[in-house]
Amino acid sequence: MVVTSLRNRAMPLVRYRIGDEACWAAEPCPCGRHWPLLGKVAGRVTDSFVTASGALVHGAFFTRLFYDRPWVRRFQVVQDEVTSITVRLAPIDAVEVAQREHGPDTDALAHEIQAAMGARSNRVTVRPWALTARSASNGSGRSPN
Ligand SMILES: [Zn+2]
Repeated sequence: MVVTSLRNRAMPLVRYRIGDEACWAAEPCPCGRHWPLLGKVAGRVTDSFVTASGALVHGAFFTRLFYDRPWVRRFQVVQDEVTSITVRLAPIDAVEVAQREHGPDTDALAHEIQAAMGARSNRVTVRPWALTARSASNGSGRSPN
């Protein structure tokens, strides 16, 4: 979404890219005005991943993948090539994770990614992510390049 707001005269926002995705409402506003109306605001923009067959897997798929894995402190998913995904994981506490009865389910994680990306996108590498002070404070988790 790109917004313009002139309400704040000291700091007007002109075509400000706020980083959220949204879609238009299908129905007009009940007030009768015919201006375009926002429907659902879907949240932050995330990149999509492309499968070997050309289908798109929205980045939110990966975000949801980690909802049920509270041992993950931070993750980064990189599509190195069309057929290769690298997942970097920083656990909440490496010692605590090692002591758990059921260790980190990285195999299950890799299988879920393979299933979503299709059989031909068959290389999923899960590796530990040693957080530096900089990457720990970078909210997006994106590499600077
Ligand atoms: Zn209205």
